[in-house]
Amino acid sequence: MVRFTVLASGSKGNSAIVSGGRTRILVDAGLSCRELFRRMKLAGEDPETLDAVILTHEHTDHVNGLAVTARKLGIPVYFTESTHRAWTRWLTPRRQMTYAQWVEQCRRQAAERQAEAETAQFDPAAESEELDSVPVSVTNPSETLAFETEVETAADPGPGAASPVPSRQGDPTWLPSVEHFKAGQTFEIGDIAVSPFTIPHDAADPVGFVFRTEGVRLALATDLGYIPPNVKQQLKGVDLLLLESNHDLEMLRDGPYPWSVKQRVLSRVGHLSNETAAAYLENEYDGQAAYVILAHLSESNNLPELARVAAERALMGRASLLANKLLLAAQDDVLASIYF
Ligand SMILES: [Zn+2]
Ligand SMILES: [Zn+2]
Repeated sequence: MVRFTVLASGSKGNSAIVSGGRTRILVDAGLSCRELFRRMKLAGEDPETLDAVILTHEHTDHVNGLAVTARKLGIPVYFTESTHRAWTRWLTPRRQMTYAQWVEQCRRQAAERQAEAETAQFDPAAESEELDSVPVSVTNPSETLAFETEVETAADPGPGAASPVPSRQGDPTWLPSVEHFKAGQTFEIGDIAVSPFTIPHDAADPVGFVFRTEGVRLALATDLGYIPPNVKQQLKGVDLLLLESNHDLEMLRDGPYPWSVKQRVLSRVGHLSNETAAAYLENEYDGQAAYVILAHLSESNNLPELARVAAERALMGRASLLANKLLLAAQDDVLASIYF
């Protein structure tokens, strides 16, 4: 059975679970580990059964609970090499690393992991809960942070945000296991085939995903300034489409963000508006998906009803019992699991 659960979606945290065969993948870890676990339990998902975490990009709203979750569960983290490096630099902002130094650090960490596996003394459950708030640092926002999360997390960076707390190994970037993938190259995690594709967004190497398992195709595309041809290609023939519908253009224009931030949100490496998402759904989307989920709605510059109405109009006449059921993913609530 294939199962898809959105744990959270929006500018303050994104995370979802894709399950198929015997494999379960956490896609992004944008809430604290404690909150992720709480929501998983609400959704009837057992955190202990997760096999991996995979990341779209390094912005705060996608990595907030990454290190603690991966350490606690002792599971591998999949990201592109550039995203891994950007995440590492973000957590160690005062120590500028050359590429060679970063590669050396990765090697050292791999050796540590190997040594730990050999001595078999690592107890993931022993990891301190205090680490929950570590990755909320905004010490060097110009480098990697999202404009939208920058605005929102800067206002309330949370306890302990100013200085990253080192892990048990004395390194906040330490992860139990790391796997690098490349956009455009399909690979497998257990029973799930993963096809990462490049998206236009102001991060180091951002990607969307198509997951294929048990003959079902699930596409996730959020955090993109527009929908380029390669993304349109990837979104063809999917059974579930989770698509960004970030802001209402008028609300953004009249809203609270400074003009420079508004410009970045609107840019071709920003976020998808209700209008752009609806235009895609109306004119180019093939109408094949059983479910269309609107995601990453801004709390400052959007209203769920505006996003819904725009998409409903675009899908007019295409919704049926079997196709194009429209759902909205929320920031504060788990979206009931979808089964195939
Ligand atoms: Zn982002
Ligand atoms: Zn985001």
